[in-house]
Amino acid sequence: PPDVEQLGRSTWTLLHSLTANYPERPSLTQQSDTRQFMSLFGKMYPCWVCADDFRAWMQNGNAPKVSNREEFGKWMCEAHNAVNVKLGKPSFDCDKWEERWRTGWKD
Ligand code: FAD
Repeated sequence: PPDVEQLGRSTWTLLHSLTANYPERPSLTQQSDTRQFMSLFGKMYPCWVCADDFRAWMQNGNAPKVSNREEFGKWMCEAHNAVNVKLGKPSFDCDKWEERWRTGWKD
């Protein structure tokens, strides 16, 4: 349904923007808040099949990597790619996440 798609696009914008603004040297509190945010997100995302699969993915050896911006950004990109693969969409090159979501494309 189209609302799942629009919700998805808006939500990825929020999630990748969070990683783009995540500190390069987060405090332990920021790291633990971020883990908690992702865990609650996985319970509350209002597309329930999406949320179930996302939680299962996180529990299957893909716990959020929150030790710095680079790691969190790459992790979110991999999370998004797992959904892309599931939906038969092309994978995104995760070396480019920062160009897409933080610094802007260079051309
Ligand atoms: P989107 O996938 O929404 O991507 C938006 C933009 O992000 C793209 O145009 C591209 O510029 C950029 N981008 C693409 N891949 C990456 C990446 N790996 N890293 C960084 N940037 C990237 N839909 C379902 O039908 N079934 C599901 O089970 C499902 N699960 C979801 C789980 C979560 C946690 C979320 C947030 C969304 C889920 N969705 C699901 C929605 C789905 O991922 C898409 O958002 C939706 O299909 C619209 O896709 P789109 O092609 O417009 O681009």
